[in-house]
Amino acid sequence: MRRASPFPAPSLELPLNEERAACPRCGGLLVFPAGRERLACAGCRADWLRPVASARALVFETAGRRLAFGRRWIGVAHRPRYPFHHALHAEPEVRKLAAEFGVPRRLRGKTQWERQRDLLRVLRIELFRHRPPAPVLRRLALWTIARTNRHWYCTHLAYFYSAFAASLGWTARILNIGRDHLEKTDGHMIAEIWNDDWQKWVMVDPLFAAWFSRRGRPSEPLSFFEVRQDWLRGGGRRMILHHRVRSASQDLIGPERTLPALRDDTRNRSLHPSHYFWAIAYLSNRFLTEPYEDGRFLALFWRDRWNTGRAWYNRDKPVGYYRARHVVETSTPLDFHPPLNNTAVWLLRDAVRPRVFLRAYCPNFARFEMKRDGAWRRIPAEFPLPPAHGRFAWEFRAVNRFGVAGKPAALTGIAR
Ligand SMILES: [Zn+2]
Repeated sequence: MRRASPFPAPSLELPLNEERAACPRCGGLLVFPAGRERLACAGCRADWLRPVASARALVFETAGRRLAFGRRWIGVAHRPRYPFHHALHAEPEVRKLAAEFGVPRRLRGKTQWERQRDLLRVLRIELFRHRPPAPVLRRLALWTIARTNRHWYCTHLAYFYSAFAASLGWTARILNIGRDHLEKTDGHMIAEIWNDDWQKWVMVDPLFAAWFSRRGRPSEPLSFFEVRQDWLRGGGRRMILHHRVRSASQDLIGPERTLPALRDDTRNRSLHPSHYFWAIAYLSNRFLTEPYEDGRFLALFWRDRWNTGRAWYNRDKPVGYYRARHVVETSTPLDFHPPLNNTAVWLLRDAVRPRVFLRAYCPNFARFEMKRDGAWRRIPAEFPLPPAHGRFAWEFRAVNRFGVAGKPAALTGIAR
């Protein structure tokens, strides 16, 4: 039976063709068409040039100088309208966790994704091959929910993944997913991790040490949205499943296998892409210091054209573990999957002292850096326009307190 939700309709939806940012000089709210590069602030009258990713020519003239920008890459910098409780570097529990379990020396791989993928192996194969023992659950403040037996093994592993990722300086969160089916409503718990190289939230299934890719591009991990769209649009025929755990209940573990996602010999129904119909993202990964508990944080419910108007709970029972009153619905992709760690570059045209302002949405932000003579050097968030003449290639990046750097913003051009 379909019922209309008695809970408020989404109230913070952002049109796809609209962006919002704070004016770097006065802090006033700027609302402007997505992708616009020239902005004027009504509050402080700042005249901004805000380059975005493009190869199109862009000219910045100020105080007798002329900068012609060519190829540039600047990732989206969006501050989501729903608060996320990030694990803090300042908290000793967060800094210590991975080291205590020897994770940094166990992790293999060079790229960020190779290491994030290998964290699945380290946790599930090397550290927690069987149901995590009580002392570990207690140490990670999971003992209370482990006793209820409602939150099963997948929750523990998804939680471990996000807590250990936080300890390594990466941002991950847990996600409760479910099929388009109301009888078995507890669903399945997975995790998503922000990847700076792929510039997306990648979904991982820590219980099965699993992730998805597509035929033709088997090394590129898929985001939750991509898994969902491939299933709902194309029936999942192009999807490839990578996994190490063949049966969680029997602890059947082996090397990573790659097979079509729809082949049903995995014996794990919750690995099937149909489970990506409902999704509730937990807006916290600060579990080491504010333990996991129903309703402690808001959770974000994904609503789009495939599940519009559909009730996602059965009587009072939601799809996942969260109570409906603790869930906020959103249809804004940028708020559900906010890009992290990208550096936005704002150029202030000012007759006296043209300036550069750098801004980032970077959890545990430590500093900005600029590449000079092949080396990254610290740079303040605001500085006078560099006295460049001739060709220039600028690169700016945000670095967090764990030393993890976001993808650099890169601008090339000619200055006269
Ligand atoms: Zn302003």
